[in-house]
Amino acid sequence: MVFVPILLYHQIDIPPVRRVPFRSMIVHPDAFRRQMNWLKRLGYQGLSLREAMPYIRGEKTGKVAAITFDDGFLNVYEKALLVLQAHGFTATNFFVANQVGGQNAWDIPFGGVQAPCMSVAQMREWAALGHEVGSHTLDHVHLPQVPWEEARKQIALSREILQDMIGEAVTSFCYPYGDENGDMRKLARDAAYDYATTTARRRARKEDDSFGLPRLTIRRNDTWLHFLRKCLTR
Ligand SMILES: [Zn+2]
Repeated sequence: MVFVPILLYHQIDIPPVRRVPFRSMIVHPDAFRRQMNWLKRLGYQGLSLREAMPYIRGEKTGKVAAITFDDGFLNVYEKALLVLQAHGFTATNFFVANQVGGQNAWDIPFGGVQAPCMSVAQMREWAALGHEVGSHTLDHVHLPQVPWEEARKQIALSREILQDMIGEAVTSFCYPYGDENGDMRKLARDAAYDYATTTARRRARKEDDSFGLPRLTIRRNDTWLHFLRKCLTR
């Protein structure tokens, strides 16, 4: 059976020294570079989800790892993009449509440190370099907790807004907080996405529902051994 690791990153930046909420989601740029080096050394091609899907579906064979980022942070543009380019890798970033050029407004009420998101121009550059723009709703809401019509809008309208911004199709969706259910998967399907990711912690395989793809979260304090274990054995 073929397993494809879908890696999940949030921010690539120097983590704050003090203990703050969501600090574990900030991976140091040096650690990120080392992890990409490991993939390369082990013969993996790092791909956006769009490009990795034929491997997950078993239509193509080869050693690939999908690289995804949530939330469209500016520090990914500033600190990860060149590393990806240098390795010849592509990646997917899931943008919060109403916060393009904004910030992680959804983290602030929970004590998260403010972090800016990419601007429209930076997101376009991301796409123009062959990386994928995916949708992560309009406002980063807990989809199953909002009224159905609002959830539908969060899923469908964010796709249209992002498509208008970059001038190309958006086929990839990511449920904020990995919070989803059968109804949300149906809404994503109805909004004409091709696949959607959640946060189940294992590698992806052919049998997986395209609208419930599992991912492996890479954290601030993961050692290279943790990283390899996640990529190779989960
Ligand atoms: Zn998110």
